Amino acid sequence: MKQGYIGMYDNGIGFGNISIRIDEHTFMVSGSATGGIKELTADHYALVTDFNLIHNELTCKGMTMASSESLTHAAIYACSKETNAVVHIHHKQKWSSLLHHAATTDSSIAYGTPELAFAIQSLIKEDKVGPSRIIVMGGHEEGLIAYGKTLEEAAMAFLKI
Ligand SMILES: [Zn+2]
Repeated sequence: MKQGYIGMYDNGIGFGNISIRIDEHTFMVSGSATGGIKELTADHYALVTDFNLIHNELTCKGMTMASSESLTHAAIYACSKETNAVVHIHHKQKWSSLLHHAATTDSSIAYGTPELAFAIQSLIKEDKVGPSRIIVMGGHEEGLIAYGKTLEEAAMAFLKI
């Protein structure tokens, strides 16, 4: 992770987690509770080598555990071939203003569940996500997710709104 990249978020944007696709079924995701760490190293990532959305299962290697939210990342990689990076942040103000204005998952669906994974896939497949590629997690207060061809593209989506 380049230094300064995370610095962009000093103005109150908290990280949930970020991930980068390695190949079709493999991605690297920042582990739980790394949000306050300024510069992420390999020790802060888990390598997810396989996943099963229906059974809510992730197979991972690495020095840290993939967080329960990694299933959401897996869901996006599985249905959007051109996506190579997913960024999940917590931001109350942006969440409130985008709720039901951008693509929003149902408020009854909790984060880290197969239901959320499938709801996100539906929004993508039905082309309900706007050009910003931002999805509001209706059942996860402050939770927003963006995806893109590169990590920069995914992260920049939050700065444009
Ligand atoms: Zn979150």
